[in-house]
Amino acid sequence: MLPDLHMVRLAFGQAYLWQDSDSVTLVDTGVAGSGAELAEAVRALGRSVDEVDHVVLTHFHEDHAGGASEVNTWPNARVHAHRADEPFITGVLPGPPPVITEDWERALHQQITPGLPAAPPARVDVTLAGGEVLPFGGGAHVLHLPGHTDGSVALHLPHHDVLFTGDTMANVGQVTPGVFNLDAARLLDSVKALVRLDPRTVLFGHGEPLDQGFDSAAKRLSASSDSDPGGAV
Ligand SMILES: [Zn+2]
Repeated sequence: MLPDLHMVRLAFGQAYLWQDSDSVTLVDTGVAGSGAELAEAVRALGRSVDEVDHVVLTHFHEDHAGGASEVNTWPNARVHAHRADEPFITGVLPGPPPVITEDWERALHQQITPGLPAAPPARVDVTLAGGEVLPFGGGAHVLHLPGHTDGSVALHLPHHDVLFTGDTMANVGQVTPGVFNLDAARLLDSVKALVRLDPRTVLFGHGEPLDQGFDSAAKRLSASSDSDPGGAV
């Protein structure tokens, strides 16, 4: 991967660190209890948690925002989240469960989610609407991509040809639309928006990063969704 980019493999799920000369950015925070692992990953790069300023939560789910309350204690970390997901992160409202219609997806959900700790309420310092350009990575464009959740965001760094998809897409075995969505139809529109960006380096909420080959994976994806118009995944 790019020298500025580091994937943090957590006990469950993953997060990403992006390094600039004068700051460090964290994308997602893992499940509750990931704070020490995240801090260790920052130190392993030779940086300090004091240098972490931007923290972007791609959405409210407990395996992405679960560590945010721990990151809230880092002195300069400013947690960013979309306004539609913010009340579920701050604990003002309970997060809505996904709308699952397929049996295989329900079985997978029942297999995975009971083992995940609930996300403790966390402070959101910066409310996103989509369309912002955050000052890291040469300019990180915030893309509002509803579907997985109402407030899901992706980050596009055009200067480096890098895309953080959050859970709008995954690469577990192969590149697919995300699962456990609130709105499967909107999710597919959001997937199409990401495919149109045609990025070189793609960082998923789950699964291995892709460095090149996203275009061919995306073509397979659109071919299969064209032949199965009802298939959400
Ligand atoms: Zn999710």
